[in-house]
Amino acid sequence: DPIRMEKIVSLCKQRGFIFQAGELYGGLNGCWDYGPLGAELKRNLKDYWWRKTVQERDDVLGMDGAILTMQQVLKSSGHLDGFSDPMCDCLLSKARLRADQVPAQDGTAVWYSGAKLESSGWSTERPFAVLVAPDKDPASAKKVARQFYAQFMPDKKVSPKELELIEDRQEQVTGVTNFNPENGSLLTEAKEFNLMFKTKMGASASEDDPNATAFLRPETAQSIFCQYKNILDSNRIKLPFGIAQVGKSFRNEINPRNYTFRSREFEQMEIEFFCRPEDGMRLTEEWLEARLNFYEEIGVPRAKLHILDVPDGERAFYSDKTYDIEYEFPFGIQELEGVAYRTNYDLRVHQEGSGRALEYFDEDTKERFLPHVVEPSAGCDRTVLAIICEAFDEEELTDSKGKKDVRTVMRFVPRMAPIKVGIFPLLKKNEEQVRICREIQKTLQPWMNVFYDDGGAVGRRYRRQDEIGTPFCVTVDFDTLGENDPSTKGTVTIRHRDSMEQERLPVSELLAWLLERVR
Ligand code: ATP
Repeated sequence: DPIRMEKIVSLCKQRGFIFQAGELYGGLNGCWDYGPLGAELKRNLKDYWWRKTVQERDDVLGMDGAILTMQQVLKSSGHLDGFSDPMCDCLLSKARLRADQVPAQDGTAVWYSGAKLESSGWSTERPFAVLVAPDKDPASAKKVARQFYAQFMPDKKVSPKELELIEDRQEQVTGVTNFNPENGSLLTEAKEFNLMFKTKMGASASEDDPNATAFLRPETAQSIFCQYKNILDSNRIKLPFGIAQVGKSFRNEINPRNYTFRSREFEQMEIEFFCRPEDGMRLTEEWLEARLNFYEEIGVPRAKLHILDVPDGERAFYSDKTYDIEYEFPFGIQELEGVAYRTNYDLRVHQEGSGRALEYFDEDTKERFLPHVVEPSAGCDRTVLAIICEAFDEEELTDSKGKKDVRTVMRFVPRMAPIKVGIFPLLKKNEEQVRICREIQKTLQPWMNVFYDDGGAVGRRYRRQDEIGTPFCVTVDFDTLGENDPSTKGTVTIRHRDSMEQERLPVSELLAWLLERVR
């Protein structure tokens, strides 16, 4: 639903959740800055992940590794030689595109993989892609497509209906990868493009010195594997146990897209859970379940998640089992997290690469072996985006006079909401109301984010908080002062974001009442 996505992107900018990085100078593609509310939301997510993963478990320890990574580490892990995506040059638009990428909704370029065409009745010998760009001339586009089909799929009659399939989507074929419409010949194969950012360390760095070459890490996992032995030796911990890390990773994605979903700089939340070989499969299932519960707790319901049991042949070669946890984004069902059983691949390659023993000695059985690893690897930015997409709502309201209205409300679960409470004096001019509000603010601030607002009608102040997802608003009014009825003195109105219902509570109970609901 592109319209829904547009509204979300616009609200995020207007209310200060997310901005394009370098926007002032035209924008840095694939990079995003989180504004005041976005930063709070992201922090809530990371904090809650850490709390559930490290703080509330006694079998997982945390770490915080360096972003700059030695070439040798990435040589052993396989990233140096193999962390790449197939890239094609479009002959007509000259754009560089990821050859295996399925349709984007951003209207600039869409690729149909072989499989996609097959599902619409085409059969293809080898995967190929059709580039469609809505701004190109449709007649010539159609000609190119016909020419391609005639040459490479002569047995396949190109029915007008099949061409319509593409036109229906208001997209036109303008080019075909590997296909030169001028002379009808196949050209360049897709090239492998390494996704890592490379940099030079130190002032005297020469171009070809591998010791002076460093990379921005493409995942947080490698520092965990490399420090596994140090962590084991410096902590009294036994298998099975995990090491968790939250932090930035960098991938020079060929086509960043779908807002923050595919970025070049992003944060990951990764756990490497080390275990005995015979426990790997069972723990993979257990972690999948734990991670699904986590999403429920942050406001991404189970019903909107899809579990992809990645089939043989599509998993990484070292993985015996991989589940992708996918979410129904407005732009399609896409991966949030991978839960992969990686066998002992990682420790094995680092043991071989470093020449250092990484084996575990089991005191009980007197065995020495390389532990196996189960890895739940989640994307922080993708999860923030899922939380935002899930929370965004436009609610139709009818007032007592039958007047219709639309309320924009971000239905964040309270523990994720950037601001937990709005605090309003009913009347800005009433000094006593303002004084009590400021006192409430001081009491709550060490515990949670609050927002004091005295501008405009109270109804409008509620709506502003609805739009940024504040779950509760506290209003100090004349009843708080006990002016009409002494029995209400010292109580405030609490207004609930979702139901818009109100209740009264003594100020003295406010902190405990809120803490119970926002943790
Ligand atoms: P994709 O297939 O979407 O490129 P991946 O399978 O390569 O992702 P992993 O290497 O398994 O991703 O990384 C683990 C997690 O890190 C992903 O599930 C995702 O949440 C996050 N992630 C990976 N690449 C990006 C990116 N370019 N932008 C934002 N998040 C990312």
